Amino acid sequence: MTDWDPRALAVLDALEGAGFQAVLVGGCVRDALRGAAPHDYDAATAARPEEMRQVFAGWKTADTGLRHGTLTVFSGGLGVEVTSFRSEGPYSDRRRPDGVRFTRSLAEDLGRRDFTVNAMAWGRGGLTDLFGGREDLAAGVIRCVGSPARRFQEDALRLLRGLRLAAQLEFKLHPDTAAALRDSLPLLDWVSRERVMQELSRLVCAPGAQGVLLDFPQAAVRIFPELAPAVGFDQRSPCHCFDVYTHCVRAMGAVSPRLTLRLAALLHDVGKPAVFAPDAAGAGHFPGHARAGAELARAALRRLRLDGASRERTAALIARHGMRLPLQERAVRRQLFRLGPELFFDLAELDRADNAAKRPGTAPPAEHWTRLDALARQILAQSPCLTLKDLAVDGHDALAAGLEGPAVGRALDALLEAAAEGRLPNRREDLLRELERRGAPSPREG
Ligand code: ATP
Ligand code: MG
Repeated sequence: MTDWDPRALAVLDALEGAGFQAVLVGGCVRDALRGAAPHDYDAATAARPEEMRQVFAGWKTADTGLRHGTLTVFSGGLGVEVTSFRSEGPYSDRRRPDGVRFTRSLAEDLGRRDFTVNAMAWGRGGLTDLFGGREDLAAGVIRCVGSPARRFQEDALRLLRGLRLAAQLEFKLHPDTAAALRDSLPLLDWVSRERVMQELSRLVCAPGAQGVLLDFPQAAVRIFPELAPAVGFDQRSPCHCFDVYTHCVRAMGAVSPRLTLRLAALLHDVGKPAVFAPDAAGAGHFPGHARAGAELARAALRRLRLDGASRERTAALIARHGMRLPLQERAVRRQLFRLGPELFFDLAELDRADNAAKRPGTAPPAEHWTRLDALARQILAQSPCLTLKDLAVDGHDALAAGLEGPAVGRALDALLEAAAEGRLPNRREDLLRELERRGAPSPREG
C-alpha cells in the first residue's frame, strides 16, 4: 500500500518474530493512506512491557513510559514508539484514564483511539480498519470512535485534537461529532493551559484554521473569552462587511502560518467592542482599539502560558496594527529603523491581511503591499545603517571628540537616527565631523 520505512518494519518484524502481533498505528497510517509522508512512527503490539523489553534487549531503546506500556526503539537511527495494546479504564479527571489495562486484542486497542482516521493499523497482514477510517479519510471527515459525547467526556483534550486535526487535514467534523463537541466545550477547563496552547498553536498555523474557527466560534471563545463580544459584533462601518470575529478570523487565514503572526491577526481587533463609539450618524469608530486589544491579548496569552517573547511579539503587532505605511523611501527607512526589519515585515503582512478581510473595494489594492515590500527590501539590500553596530563611528570616537558621560550615548543615538533615516550618510568622515561639532564647547560656555 505504501513504501513504509524499512527501519519501522524491522521493529514490527522483531516483535512478530518473537510471536507477538505488531502493527503501525495512528498518525503514520493515516498520513501514509492519504499519500503524505509520515512524520513519525507509532507501533502497537500484543507484547506486554516486560516482553517488549526482552524482544528489544539488544537494541538501543529509551524508556518513554514503560509503566504505561510505551518504549521508544531506535531502528537504524529512527525512533519508533512502541506501545503495548491497551484498553483504558474509566476516566475520572476528564483527562487521563485512572489506569491502563494491557490486552492482547488489537481491536480493543483501536477502540480506545480518538478518531476513526487515527484508529487504523497496518501490519504484515495488511490494513485493519474496524471503524470506517479509510472511508472517512477519503470523504474528509473527522469522526469519533464510538459515542462522541462519551469520548469527549473521557478525555477533554480530544476536543482540541479534533479541531486541530480538522484544520491540519482540511477536513470537516462529522455532524454528530461536531454537535457533541459544541456541547462539550465546558470540559476544556479540565485541560491544562499548556496543553491548550500547544494544540491551539498547531491549529492556528494549519491550512484549514480559518474554516474551523468560523465553524466553531464557541471553541475560540472558550479559549479566549476576550473574543466573546466580538462574535456577531456589527462594526457599523462602510469598510466592513463582517462582524469583528469573522473579520479577525479571515485576517488570520490571510497571514503566513507563523504562530505570532497568526495569533496577532486572530486577536488584532479584540479591543474593538470595548471602545466602540458610534458617531452622530451612527457609524462605528473604535478609538484606541489597537492598544486596548494588545492589553487584552497580552493577558490572554500570559494566561495560556505562551512564552514571553512570543507573547510580547504578538502584543507588539496588535498594538501597532493599522498604522499606514506610506510608499515613500524616507518613511519606510524610518519605520525599518524604528521597528526593526522583522516587525516591519510582519506588520506589513498583518496590514495586508487586515485590509483583505474588509468589504471588497474599500481598501487599497493588494499591489500596495507588494510595492511596500519591494521598497523595503531594496532599502535593506543597500545595507542600511539600522543599529549602533552598523554606524561608522563608535563610543571611542565620541570620547575622542570631547564628549563625556551620557552625552556619548545621546550623540550616537542621534547620529544613528539621522543615518538610518538617510539624513546623514553613514560615512566615517561625515559622522566624525558631526561628533566634533557636538564635542566642541559651545561659544557661550567658553
Ligand atoms: P500527529 O503525530 O501528526 O500529531 P497522531 O495521530 O500521530 O498525529 P499522536 O499524538 O502522535 O497523534 O497520537 C498517536 C495516536 O494515539 C493517535 O493517532 C490516536 O490513535 C491515539 N491518541 C492520541 N491521543 C489520544 C487521545 N487523547 N485519545 C485517544 N486516542 C489518542
Ligand atoms: Mg504521531
